[in-house]
Amino acid sequence: MAGPAGFDMPVGEFRRHGKALIDWIADYLEDPRQYPVLAGGQPGDLRQRLPTGAPAEGEPMEKILRDFDQAILPMVTHWNHPRFFAYFSISSSAPGILAELLTAALNVNAMLWKSCPAATELEQTTVAWMLDWLGLPPAWFGMIVDSASSAALQAVVAARHRAEPESRAAGPSGRLVAYVSEHTHSSVEKAAMTAGIGRSNIRHVAVDAAFSMRTDALAEAIRVDLSRNLKPFFAAATVGTTSSTAIDPVPGIAAICRENGLWLHVDGAYGGALGMLPECRHFLDGVDRADSFCVNPPKLMTVPLDCGLFYTRSPEVVRAAFSLEAEYLKTDVRGAVDYTDYGLVLGRRFRALKLWFVMRYFGRDGLVAILRRSLKMAAWLGEQISNSARFELAAPVNMGLVCFRSRQGDDATRELMNRINRSGAFFVSHTVLNGSFIVRVAIGNIRTQWEDVEELWGAISKL
Ligand code: PLP
Repeated sequence: MAGPAGFDMPVGEFRRHGKALIDWIADYLEDPRQYPVLAGGQPGDLRQRLPTGAPAEGEPMEKILRDFDQAILPMVTHWNHPRFFAYFSISSSAPGILAELLTAALNVNAMLWKSCPAATELEQTTVAWMLDWLGLPPAWFGMIVDSASSAALQAVVAARHRAEPESRAAGPSGRLVAYVSEHTHSSVEKAAMTAGIGRSNIRHVAVDAAFSMRTDALAEAIRVDLSRNLKPFFAAATVGTTSSTAIDPVPGIAAICRENGLWLHVDGAYGGALGMLPECRHFLDGVDRADSFCVNPPKLMTVPLDCGLFYTRSPEVVRAAFSLEAEYLKTDVRGAVDYTDYGLVLGRRFRALKLWFVMRYFGRDGLVAILRRSLKMAAWLGEQISNSARFELAAPVNMGLVCFRSRQGDDATRELMNRINRSGAFFVSHTVLNGSFIVRVAIGNIRTQWEDVEELWGAISKL
């Protein structure tokens, strides 16, 4: 029971519950298949089961844990389940989970070097390691943010600042134009909107048959906007789009951006990490010419949510766009990075710790093996589908994603997806490509075994 004056849980009690919880987590990680992958219930179910008012008096941990088991867990969708194939399948590995425990225990704020030197310097170290693994310019400035969406916001705000430094004082002019493709993740458009670029000034450049941005269409869109006295300032290219893991032609886009003075942001949230595989390194061709780049270690690298890496060749622009000197944050430290100056948020979690744990525990070779297995499973499933009379691939399987449809059309494809998900054994998601409803199977969970993918294929064939 909580202490009467709100003091913390006694250490002995913490030790007891901590050990029990580690056991619970170990059992969970050993066999998440004991749970249905997709949460059950209807909207409002959990809220009805929980008291409407928060407790006035503290409650014993036993009771809290019992409610976690009985009320919360049944409405959890198990992203760590080996048969979670929806969206982009992700997982948290054991070293990452252990690091999160330490992060919560230390509870440091990585806003300034002085506020926690270890957090700042471990961040600098891990982002540099990642650049090395991806074969990207070692001189780039890197930092850890919460998500690829935040990385996109930082990129757009920096680009806006470079194009219109006066926007810091006066706001954007209304003439700035941003370019994304029809398949760019919505977070980039949201970032542009948030930065004051009206939606009418965001162009969705057409894609080719492989869903990659058409450079001729980009060049033409920029030409038209310039002729209207508008100011093209930002373009986003993607390595691994969300719908189909298409790769935009970054070298060509980079050349157009350079020629016209646009800031190029490369969104490698999903596909970027694959650059550490020698056989996939060409996915990152041209990225060294970008102004900024992001990759999300939670997507393929088994780092627990959240953790996004933001890189830029022009940190001085990012800093000029974001920094504001508040008296209470000034320090007398010289020669150190204060990461809060390079983004929106002040309070920053010690995310580098879990990235460091995962990078050290698996090493580059271990992570390459994990990634390679996911790609092999996806390629195998893709082969089964393309050899089948009833289904067809809707996009090439170049990463860990298989996009397919029933040859009988949209209704049959949608019904297939619903049946797979209703079975409770698997969770797959959908997209629309070329106007057709498509099932997406994303493979990328560290615990997914060959039998999980084989049984999914069995279910697809049977259903
Ligand atoms: N970019 C791509 C290609 C994505 O697939 C996603 C999410 O899946 C995002 C950006 C947004 O990522 P986040 O959730 O980290 O903001």
